[in-house]
Amino acid sequence: MAGHRQRMKKRLKRLKIGKNHPVLSVFVFMILFTLTACIAAMFVGTFVLFQVDSRLSSEVQTVYLLSRFYDECEDTEKGYELLDSSNMDYIVTDGNGNIIRSRGSDTRSDRTGLYYGTFDISDSDTLHSVYLYEDSEKPVIRPHDDDNIQIDVPGYAQELAQGLKNLKETDEPHDDADDDTQDYKLFKLPVWTGIDARNKGEIIYYKCMVTAEMSDVAFIITLFAAICILLTMIIVILIANLIRGAANQRKMRNLLFTDLVLGSHNKLWYFIRGDVMLTGLGSARKNYAAVDLEFVGYKRFCVCHSSEDGENALKSIYSVLSSKIGKKELCCHSSEDSFALLLEYKDEEELKHRIEKLISSITHVKEDHKIAFHGGAFLMPSIPGSGRFSRRMDADIETAYNNASAAAASLADRDGSGYTFFDDKFIEEQRWEDTVSDIQQQALENEEFVVYYQPKYDPRTNELRGAEALIRWQSPQYGFVTPYKFIPIFEKNGFITEIDHYMISHVARDQKRWLDEGQKCVPVSVNVSRAHFIESDLAEQIRDMVDKYGAPHELIEIELTESAFFDDKKAMINTIRRLKEYGFAVSMDDFGSGYSSLNSLKDMPLDVLKLDAGFFRGEEATTERGEIVVSEAIKLAKSLDMRTVAEGVEAKEQVDFLAHLGCDMIQGYYYAKPMPADDYRERLITGRSQGGDIADAV
Ligand code: C2E
Ligand code: CA
Ligand code: CA
Repeated sequence: MAGHRQRMKKRLKRLKIGKNHPVLSVFVFMILFTLTACIAAMFVGTFVLFQVDSRLSSEVQTVYLLSRFYDECEDTEKGYELLDSSNMDYIVTDGNGNIIRSRGSDTRSDRTGLYYGTFDISDSDTLHSVYLYEDSEKPVIRPHDDDNIQIDVPGYAQELAQGLKNLKETDEPHDDADDDTQDYKLFKLPVWTGIDARNKGEIIYYKCMVTAEMSDVAFIITLFAAICILLTMIIVILIANLIRGAANQRKMRNLLFTDLVLGSHNKLWYFIRGDVMLTGLGSARKNYAAVDLEFVGYKRFCVCHSSEDGENALKSIYSVLSSKIGKKELCCHSSEDSFALLLEYKDEEELKHRIEKLISSITHVKEDHKIAFHGGAFLMPSIPGSGRFSRRMDADIETAYNNASAAAASLADRDGSGYTFFDDKFIEEQRWEDTVSDIQQQALENEEFVVYYQPKYDPRTNELRGAEALIRWQSPQYGFVTPYKFIPIFEKNGFITEIDHYMISHVARDQKRWLDEGQKCVPVSVNVSRAHFIESDLAEQIRDMVDKYGAPHELIEIELTESAFFDDKKAMINTIRRLKEYGFAVSMDDFGSGYSSLNSLKDMPLDVLKLDAGFFRGEEATTERGEIVVSEAIKLAKSLDMRTVAEGVEAKEQVDFLAHLGCDMIQGYYYAKPMPADDYRERLITGRSQGGDIADAV
């Protein structure tokens, strides 16, 4: 069963119609997107940091320069003035952090939390430490408690004057341009920078504005935009591909799962959906039945009507069946003349009732024609003890449907509607069928098939008037096999025509031999199958076979079963005529066993009517109505100038009754069972029967 699932998966893979995985595609896409976004963010972040860093260090450089000016300023007041003229917020503290002088509010924050770090900036001789704090509105002031070591950088007073002047100059136009340029300022980051002005034992905290302008971030924006465009393109292409893929898959699925004749679902669809249904959640708790419904004689229907009529009938059948099944059940056109269903059922009785109803609902889809259906069902009952969500993992929809078809096919020899359930008996029958098919040719060549003869007697005189040749199989492997066990198989696989030839040849050979031995012979009838009668030169084949052994034609009679008369009537009449021309008698076998063949009787130039054994079996044999039918059939045959043979007669009263009606011959256990050729030869010699002396043969 697991093999079946593998097979199904492989098949789907081959057809490239596995499940589309949009979730997986989206997942992969998300990963790609996140990765790309991270890389872009890292890149942009690094760039921004670099920008900020470079801005900050240039600000720090300015402050450092300022501190040096301050440092070098011999007159402190002059230094303060210079600071004031710098236009920036500042705080001057002593080494203990006490504010000596300030401009702007002190918004330095807790340096333990928001302290950026200490930068070392070197001039030509010395390293200077710079302390950076974030500008927050927190009122906490914790000045840096460094050693308060003063540094002495000579000649800075002049530089300070010049530097502050420069600062002022650069600030003033800067302020003027502020209005024009503020549009381009993207952000301003206020940062407090502290410098040791060690000469004075003071620390200058200076509020720098780190700004980013449009031009600074133009590259970042361009890069970001490019990444966004790229990502959008990827998304669009991916979505377009997903949509196109899904549409293509839908198209392909539709094509693969649609029956080209009816436009309905086909067998592949049935197998795939059936597999999903049978193995789905909770499937183990349900009863399922795979059902096959076969249109009996679809080909004949098309010949009698037209192919178009046939297709229309199939369409109507499909639409009726589809309307009669539940939402969670399946129906498809599985082959030329068959429909596959997957039904849920409560119990076997309910299922039987349902199948009967389904068959009766489609029998009359064609007003002028009653269509017969053969149904087969394979039952998959629920698995006892299974939970609410248990799956039926051993289910195999293909095997289930094949079994249902095999069950339907077992009704092949039946002309009317009917249905049957598949059971283990079928497997054995199938095996037997395969075995027989395998060894039939060898058995024929080994002459394992033996001709038995069942005599026919005149009930009035008890004289031997004829016999029927009946086949027996003496198999070295399987023993004595009755024809009921192999003739239907030969009829199915076509080997029956070989058997018919074999029997005719052997009967002709026996007759010729007995004649040559000086024995007076009576006509022997041989069964010729319905399949054989389709051959246009059948009469000539029989003539040639009989002539090969030199037996007189009048000693051979050809038996046709009643059902054969439903086939091509014209061809049949033609063959019968030619057989009669060659001197062979032709009889209708099993008259009254199934269909009324009165119409055929009228048209067919037959010589003998064989009344079916059913007339003399069971209750009907003894009823008045039964007797009326037999007596009328004999009368009818007489009026059509046909001889009558009653088959299956076992009781003396029946013989007397038939004798009274003028029945010409009786073939039944009352006189004799079928017997080997040698025993029959004895009967030929005797010629007459006492009646009631049932022979030992079979
Ligand atoms: P059938 O042609 O209707 O043959 C008559 C069957 O009825 C024979 O069964 C015979 O043994 C049986 N029978 C005759 N009298 C009585 C009776 O009084 N009581 C009972 N219970 N049965 C009786 P058999 O020989 O087993 O053959 C069965 C069927 O197999 C035949 O039915 C025929 O359809 C087919 N068959 C047999 N031999 C051949 C053959 O050589 N060629 C073809 N094509 N079919 C054959
Ligand atoms: Ca027969
Ligand atoms: Ca018969």
